[in-house]
Amino acid sequence: MDLRVPLSESLTRRRLAFLMALGVRVVRDGTSVGDLALFAYKMGYVPKGGGEKPSQVGAAEAIARLTGEEANTFFSLLDWSVLGRLWALLTCDEQKFFQETYCLTAEEQESRWQVAVDSHCHLDRWSIKVGVSLDGNILTHLKDHSPLVEIEVNVKAMVTNFCDPPTYPDVSLLKTLSSMRCFPTIGLHPKGASRYSDTDINQFAKLLGRPEVVGFGEVGLDHSVPYTEWLGQSILLRRVLGFLEERHVLILHCRGSKGDQDGREVNMRLLSILHGLISPNQRIHLHCFRGDLEMFRAFTDSFPNTYVGYTHKTSDLSPAALLALRTIPTERLLVETDAPYFVSPTIGPFSSPNVVGLAARNVGRIRGESTRDVLTATVSNFEDLYRLKL
Ligand SMILES: [Zn+2]
Repeated sequence: MDLRVPLSESLTRRRLAFLMALGVRVVRDGTSVGDLALFAYKMGYVPKGGGEKPSQVGAAEAIARLTGEEANTFFSLLDWSVLGRLWALLTCDEQKFFQETYCLTAEEQESRWQVAVDSHCHLDRWSIKVGVSLDGNILTHLKDHSPLVEIEVNVKAMVTNFCDPPTYPDVSLLKTLSSMRCFPTIGLHPKGASRYSDTDINQFAKLLGRPEVVGFGEVGLDHSVPYTEWLGQSILLRRVLGFLEERHVLILHCRGSKGDQDGREVNMRLLSILHGLISPNQRIHLHCFRGDLEMFRAFTDSFPNTYVGYTHKTSDLSPAALLALRTIPTERLLVETDAPYFVSPTIGPFSSPNVVGLAARNVGRIRGESTRDVLTATVSNFEDLYRLKL
């Protein structure tokens, strides 16, 4: 049986294939991963130091999802003291085979644990999706529930956008999040424009005044909803822009209708609203940008302090949007996850801020830049745009 897996596969699949191949080599043909764990236990190979690390638990749970077995079957096999002793049972030739077949790619190796920033996510929606509460334990929850991805990065900061009044944070949560470098912003998502009450808008305006709030958004236009709702979104945007302060970054959501994949119509409409209402020096984060080069130039000509964010999902960008991504100056780029959204079969049912490593890799592939360079540039751009030093 050939247990090699292509390097394009996710880290979880490669981890599983590694353990299966290890079982076949050190025990016998037909050994399951569960049998290998039992073998290690009988040999007296037990984890040192006690207590599973969250990364081990995460890896074991991801493998369990693939095999349908219980995650605790794999805990010991993901511990370096156990693995090291199993590794010592291999011949030199076998060790060489394993190193060549399962080692990290150069890309994974070089970007491993590099500092990264997720410049746009929604921790309130993430917590609801995962079933945890959003509080001072959020970093632990993120560690425990984030998907395993090929590009493992050190997410040093994130910008978490609150744009649903029912889940707006209180002052104590704002302070807690900010102290953990989960920088909050306050917005009103355009999709809810017809639902917001005056109380919601007052609450929005009040929270915007808090010093912990670094951004105004997301706000904007979303023309993927029925045409009858478009006017309400424009009216809401004009009304709330009056609360924008110089210190806020304006985070814009701009999504086109079904037939307008690049969002030309909606971007132009958004620009026409912004003209005259906000300062030309306004710092802007165009989040999940899918526009073409003309759109990018239209924004930067009017508002030179505009930055554009891309997620890992570059596969569904149109040819014109891809050309824009290839050409946009490096100093205008941001990477983001929009977690819990933008999922894929390897990511699982929800995405998390650590997926930002994949965004950097995919953006880099299109631009002909290394993952490392994209991460370095986007962290620095984030610091410039949000005026935050990490
Ligand atoms: Zn968002």
